[in-house]
Amino acid sequence: MIICPECKKEQADTAQYCTNCGYRLSAQPHISAETKKKAYVGIVISIILIIVAISLVTTSEFSYYLENISYYADQYAETKSHSSGFLGGSYASLASRWKEMYNEAVTYVALHSIGAVVLSIVGGVGLYKCIKKLKSNGGTTNGTH
Ligand SMILES: [Zn+2]
Repeated sequence: MIICPECKKEQADTAQYCTNCGYRLSAQPHISAETKKKAYVGIVISIILIIVAISLVTTSEFSYYLENISYYADQYAETKSHSSGFLGGSYASLASRWKEMYNEAVTYVALHSIGAVVLSIVGGVGLYKCIKKLKSNGGTTNGTH
């Protein structure tokens, strides 16, 4: 229940106008201009985070590495299998090169994927909270006054 600030009669939480005196209850914004400003800044930052998250996994480098991981792994396995036989030495150095390429690709893809997930979660939660904050101006006299 809320109390009408005009006639002090109890009104339903959802009431837009006082049923007794007609006072407009929903016209009492509960959030300050400062809170509103913070919420808007939060929304902008959240959207930027989400854009950064998307850009982390949509670069040509990312798709290049992602496509080539299995290729590098195959090449490594292939050269490694020859490294113990005749001319094994040159195969061994080739194998370690492919292994490096493989590690580089996996590290790049993993770091960018983790970064994208973390940033989109932070951005998503931030966006949700800020929008919720902006929308929470329903009540009039309940809570802080
Ligand atoms: Zn009233």
